[in-house]
Amino acid sequence: MLKVLFVSTECYPYAKAGGMGDVVGALPKYLRYHDVDASVILPVYDRPLFHQHFEVIFESQIDFPDRTRSFQIREYQNQYGFSFYGVHCEELFFRESIYLGEDGHGYPDEIHRNLFFQRAILTWWNIDPNRFDLVHCHDHMTGFIPFFLKYGRAYPHLVSKPSFFTVHNAIYRGRMPWSFSGYLGSYDEWKWGLLDWSGKMDGLASALRCADKVNVVSPNYLKELVESGHELEWIFNEFPDKFVGLLNGVDVDVWSPETDQHIVAHKTKGIADFKKRNKAPLTSSFSHRNLPLFCFIGRFAHQKGVDILIDAIRSLLSDGMEANFALLGSGDRQLEEQVFMLAEEFEDHVHYESGYNEPYSHQLYAGSDFLLMPSREEPCGLNQMFAMRYGTIPIVHATGGLVDTVPDIDVGGNGFAFSPLSVYNLQAAIIRAVHFYGESRKMSRLRNKVIDIDFSWRNAAGIYAKEYYKLMSDE
Ligand code: ADP
Repeated sequence: MLKVLFVSTECYPYAKAGGMGDVVGALPKYLRYHDVDASVILPVYDRPLFHQHFEVIFESQIDFPDRTRSFQIREYQNQYGFSFYGVHCEELFFRESIYLGEDGHGYPDEIHRNLFFQRAILTWWNIDPNRFDLVHCHDHMTGFIPFFLKYGRAYPHLVSKPSFFTVHNAIYRGRMPWSFSGYLGSYDEWKWGLLDWSGKMDGLASALRCADKVNVVSPNYLKELVESGHELEWIFNEFPDKFVGLLNGVDVDVWSPETDQHIVAHKTKGIADFKKRNKAPLTSSFSHRNLPLFCFIGRFAHQKGVDILIDAIRSLLSDGMEANFALLGSGDRQLEEQVFMLAEEFEDHVHYESGYNEPYSHQLYAGSDFLLMPSREEPCGLNQMFAMRYGTIPIVHATGGLVDTVPDIDVGGNGFAFSPLSVYNLQAAIIRAVHFYGESRKMSRLRNKVIDIDFSWRNAAGIYAKEYYKLMSDE
């Protein structure tokens, strides 16, 4: 079996902030069916599952220009179908939140954390290079590893190891001033150009150039990045053979209407019964409980179009629209404030749950009639696939992976898709959905259709495995 190490800052159920956590917690399980033994390594956060039993398998230290810090590599007993390791450095990682301080902004020592994490892993792997055949890195936080493997002088035993990199989101780059170059340790300095992008060290740009193979998380997102890739389109065009768009899958063991441990009622009879029983508790605070229920689940970031959503809901409800809305999420403080005000203003129709709440998210996917995704950009999007697993119809801005997964019902698809993104177009899509909801036969047919779509990892995992084996044979 090929031994692959996933390097990531999220992995469900240990620590998840978004879709990358879902992917890293699921794909390794499904790779086993394709002759790949994938392990995962994360920073050790102050989260419940990191308090479970572990063994310290390696200890060392890294000299940073400000000071030397020690770390441990811990191996956890993991019942989720793959080996799981953690890099423990209390000062840098042992915090409850993965990325954000109490002010809702990124941690001020984010650069230290990301560079330390990557160097600690390579220091450990270099001692026993046969432990893994190949590394699979995820997003900019791990983006210098491909460079280090080739040009980092501290890891001589890893020079021939291939690297695979996944772009989950190209908005976030991991850019840092060159004054941080001392934090990289020693490397072949004449290769500095591979770290640089327009005057700064850039984790994502470096990974795109140095990794042996790169995938982005949907075919349509790759097309978008080739055309306009946050100023990185030059790289996507320069090495076309290096990049592939692979759609994420859903962990069907976790997201199952028959067994999901977080939802109120399992699917035992038909879809109508399932939806009814899961919808009931979600609508208890509304005065009209039988209206169509629309939900939104996600980070309150510009990318997710929450501002557009707020305006659309306010305007529709002011005009007397007969619908209820349940919103879950947090992030940008101003957007949170606005959603609080919206929920206060229309308390009979809008419910807002602030924060990160895994069980409630499952309940919303299961009990809502429609899921709203007015994202400005959506590399793959998992929410729409989770929703469909539970017979909930997605309403999406046609962008990124939403184009691949949600064709409009008017062209024989499985949801409501609109473009371009505007308050008006989102409103129009919601109005279409309300009318559709009124036609119960059509609604029932569509629910039955979406619940049967195969979004599992089975196929995608096979493609990843093939790419890994190809890299090994190219060596
Ligand atoms: P992104 O990774 O850009 O945040 P994705 O659609 O790829 O977006 O993945 C979002 C994942 O995060 C889904 O599993 C979704 O259910 C989950 N999620 C987002 N916000 C919350 C929240 N407030 N509470 C619980 N789960 C959330």
